[in-house]
Amino acid sequence: MANFVHIPEVKELARKTPIEIFPDPKIAVVLTNQQSGATNTPTIKIGDTVVIGEKIADAKERVSAPMHSPISGTVIKIENAYNSCFETPTEAIYIENDGKKTKGKPLTSITEAELASTKNEDLLKIIREAGIIGLGGAGFPTSVKLAVPADKKIQTLLVNGAEGEPYDTADERIMIERTANLVRGVRVVRKLLGNPAVIVVTKESKTEAVPKLQEAFSKEPNTEVRATHLTYQQGDAAMMQKAILGYETPSGKRSYEMGTIVQNVATINAIANAVFDGEPLISRVTTLNGDVPKPKNLQVKIGTPIKDILSANNVNLSTLDSVVVGGVLMGTALQTPNAPLTKRTSSIICFAKNKTKNVQQTTACIHCGRCVSACPVRLQPIAIYNAVTKGDFAKAEKLCAQDCIVCGTCSYVCPARLPLAYNVKMAKQ
Ligand code: SF4
Ligand code: SF4
Repeated sequence: MANFVHIPEVKELARKTPIEIFPDPKIAVVLTNQQSGATNTPTIKIGDTVVIGEKIADAKERVSAPMHSPISGTVIKIENAYNSCFETPTEAIYIENDGKKTKGKPLTSITEAELASTKNEDLLKIIREAGIIGLGGAGFPTSVKLAVPADKKIQTLLVNGAEGEPYDTADERIMIERTANLVRGVRVVRKLLGNPAVIVVTKESKTEAVPKLQEAFSKEPNTEVRATHLTYQQGDAAMMQKAILGYETPSGKRSYEMGTIVQNVATINAIANAVFDGEPLISRVTTLNGDVPKPKNLQVKIGTPIKDILSANNVNLSTLDSVVVGGVLMGTALQTPNAPLTKRTSSIICFAKNKTKNVQQTTACIHCGRCVSACPVRLQPIAIYNAVTKGDFAKAEKLCAQDCIVCGTCSYVCPARLPLAYNVKMAKQ
């Protein structure tokens, strides 16, 4: 059993900051692919006018999630832009804002009273058509995740409100400010899963969110809010299952095969918006934190260039060493600030030049073994790193690189500053 490494939260300022609506971009850069699964293709062409919420890219395959226009305006070009989901440039639809905020027809939705009588396949269709993917970072299409095979009985739904990543507080603010919506969303997920027990899992350090959750869920049947001490690593779905329910998912199996589904709160919030209000996923809450004048949480349209968010918040790009999106441990350093916000951008964390001066200097491995003892899934990160750097992916597979939860702890503890997690992730992919 790994000893979980303590990683400071660094959330004090941002967690107290209510969600602010960020203005719509002048030009939205909507990456056509932000999900794992099949590749979307544009359903519009250059010169078309689009309205808010209109579908602009989709795929026919089951494991997919469409993209929608976050603004109203004109499609001015379709070309590659840096995609932080895949750490490479991919196709994007550029939409020039006409400033009219013209809304499209809402998606098909239902009332809360209709939930019990609505077929699961219809609920899954709404979630699919809304373009909802795992907003905790995984990016897996939610309509596929929640379509559990009929012969698999789900005993427990774990609502993941742990938000383990340091600096990130977007989920915490959703739990504080959108608690009633979370209750609505949990009812939908629960219905889809055949009415399992629900445990809303959060950390005891989220002192404002905990009483709100307890009150909001107090009348829900067979539902518990569990505010407990969780390490950063236990925010991961598999680690949370182990921490809360006491059992692991064996290598090669999925958590639903063990009777558990873990669903992040931001995704549940999006499900409620889609099912009851007909809203496609065109914006998300993200945390701006790190070396910024005012750490905060923003509701931002998908496709807003990160540099627009930084400049509107008085962050001077020339003073920054790096901007990390999607979590400092599990996310990725942006290769360009022109990159747009994606469905997976749970946070935008800035690091000033003077603070990171020495961080990237790597040295040879000193065989201290810290990466091995810190890995929560008991991998040998240095051995996998050595295999990957030699191009020996077969060996990396033998070393179970595919079981990596991409938590970044090995890199965090390594005194030689080796990019262990990056290489294990490469092997896993
Ligand atoms: S990133 Fe992967 S290899 Fe590294 S500590 Fe986390 S689970 Fe282990
Ligand atoms: S933590 Fe770093 S230095 Fe220590 S054994 Fe692992 S790779 Fe080598």
